[in-house]
Amino acid sequence: MNVKARKEALRYFFGKVVDPMGYKFSPDEELVDFSLEQEVLLEQKYGVPYCPCKRITASRSENMKIVCPCIPFNREHFDAMKRCWCGLFVHKDVTDPSKLKQFPAAALKKG
Ligand code: SF4
Repeated sequence: MNVKARKEALRYFFGKVVDPMGYKFSPDEELVDFSLEQEVLLEQKYGVPYCPCKRITASRSENMKIVCPCIPFNREHFDAMKRCWCGLFVHKDVTDPSKLKQFPAAALKKG
């Protein structure tokens, strides 16, 4: 499958997965298109659509936590930001993703 077709397939599949979690694709179409393309390239290289903004490690179990969409592994953190770390997905009520702040999970724990 070529990159364009696979991007569309991931878009369809991911949309179905994140919807029941209260997320949707970001309205920032340029970011969505770029991120999906990176994921397809990672999938072609590693066989799995890893997160385009997280580091792949030597640990398979750790890497499984960065397979997109990784929302279930980061629920509290992403819900607090109303976006996933990359910004590919946002809460359904978000209309302007540029207003959302990105902060590390550690900042959340400090309160
Ligand atoms: S941070 Fe976003 S783009 Fe990255 S794997 Fe998680 S859900 Fe996917």
